[in-house]
Amino acid sequence: MIRTVVDREICMGSGQCTIYAPNTFELDPEMKARVMDPYGDPPETVRCAVSACPSGALSLDSDDRQEHQ
Ligand code: SF4
Repeated sequence: MIRTVVDREICMGSGQCTIYAPNTFELDPEMKARVMDPYGDPPETVRCAVSACPSGALSLDSDDRQEHQ
């Protein structure tokens, strides 16, 4: 399973991720992104949102990465 991680220190609240993957990300009252549903959008859609983040605040973390190292 792929997990999306939001670095709130880096997020600048542009909202790009909420446009690319609106069922996965939302902006909280502090205008920082958060994952509201990790299964809200297809993995490809989430990857597009991660790529579109202008500040690099989003990253993907795979639960099984230990097996691939
Ligand atoms: S696209 Fe990046 S900077 Fe913009 S709200 Fe989402 S995580 Fe924050």
